[in-house]
Amino acid sequence: MFKRILVANRGEIALRVIRACRELGIETVAIFSEADRGAPYLELADEAICVGPSRAADSYLRIDRVISAAEIGNVQAIHPGYGFLSENSHFAEVCRSCDIGFIGPTPEAMERVGDKNSARALAREAKVPTVPGSEGIISNEQEAVKVAREIGFPVLLKATAGGGGKGMRVAANDLALASAWQQASAEALAAFGNPGIYIEKYIERPRHVEIQILGDQHGNMFHLWERDCSTQRRHQKLIEESPSPRLPQATRLAMAEAAVRLAKTAGYYSAGTVEFIVDQQDNFYFIEVNARIQVEHPVSEMVTGIDLLKAQIRVAAGEKLDLKQEEIIPRGHAIECRINAEDPAANFRPCPGRIDRIVAPGGFGVRWDSHAASGYVVPPHYDSLIGKLIVHQPTRKDAIDTMIRALRELRVDGIKTTAPIHIELLQNSAFHDAQVDTTFVERVVLAK
Ligand code: ADP
Repeated sequence: MFKRILVANRGEIALRVIRACRELGIETVAIFSEADRGAPYLELADEAICVGPSRAADSYLRIDRVISAAEIGNVQAIHPGYGFLSENSHFAEVCRSCDIGFIGPTPEAMERVGDKNSARALAREAKVPTVPGSEGIISNEQEAVKVAREIGFPVLLKATAGGGGKGMRVAANDLALASAWQQASAEALAAFGNPGIYIEKYIERPRHVEIQILGDQHGNMFHLWERDCSTQRRHQKLIEESPSPRLPQATRLAMAEAAVRLAKTAGYYSAGTVEFIVDQQDNFYFIEVNARIQVEHPVSEMVTGIDLLKAQIRVAAGEKLDLKQEEIIPRGHAIECRINAEDPAANFRPCPGRIDRIVAPGGFGVRWDSHAASGYVVPPHYDSLIGKLIVHQPTRKDAIDTMIRALRELRVDGIKTTAPIHIELLQNSAFHDAQVDTTFVERVVLAK
């Protein structure tokens, strides 16, 4: 087992990794940018090293600086968290060539699932259903029109290098497609340095259901069932839950098996997520793989009782997973609400600044994963997630009631947060009746 690990991330996920390491008896070296200097969670690491200025491109994303910190900190492995360098196969390769363990899949597996277009090809190879669409990258507008007419409008243009809901454009007809094409490729080039665009059929009012996978280096690959992340705003997840309400058992099983098949075809190990969308007839289609731990991993931990972070670290050290698929049984219902420093009343404008006082909720079935503390200043440079509120109860109804109670208990003075909008969403009758699809938030709540 590793003796010392570098945590190549910040905020709540850095704290999550530090906590897992503590329990495993592993020392941690945290990194921080100038903006995060003095953040309270850094005190929980055994050592903290500054890797540069506030801008992520000058600090958390700088491979040379992160590797230097690993050398100075004398670690055997790096945990990349999510975002930043977590899905950068070049970074994983640099770790390997420096003889530093990378807590994640191999660079080769990461590359196979990394860009969305290659992942679609891989899914087809693994006989996993993909959204009807183009065979590969579309090279010009004429080809886009041809493919769109074949699969039928509306269509979705997607950036192969995309992420975080960026670089996606819906088009309902030829004319709209022409301008969507220009915008999507320009946006993809600017945001990801890769203008590659492919086309998918736009699935009307789908649900987003994803499978958590976990494998070791000895050929064992398991799934930890699904998470439903249909409660989204602008293709960004707000609420995640497990199990997915309304999903037929046969579909759930078929999706889980498809995810494991895809992972095995890619030669994948470690934790990962295979994302699908499910249409109104319960057909499921692969959309992408996230080759890292995800923000919403706690809901799977709560229903399966498996600590994904510890498992990820153990697997990276070469340990065999002591699990049996038939013993991974989901129990009860878990929900997570992402608490962001944003003002829902002002179009979700980011609200960085000083948290004068924070009171975290507690009680039966409540988990609060957050790096925020009273006096903590939320920097404006990074994503606005300040904490994740997770509840676990025997039934979905109980989980909703507990979440509403816990959200009311949460106090964050000094900045605005998304907590009020969560209460509104959870109280909505459509949410209660599990009539949620990816358009629910915009259609039902924000349109009012
Ligand atoms: P990103 O990597 O940018 O998050 P994804 O491919 O994971 O992009 O898709 C994000 C969200 O966009 C999905 O959860 C879903 O809400 C929506 N989406 C993706 N593909 C389709 C599709 N073919 N039809 C309708 N909605 C889609």
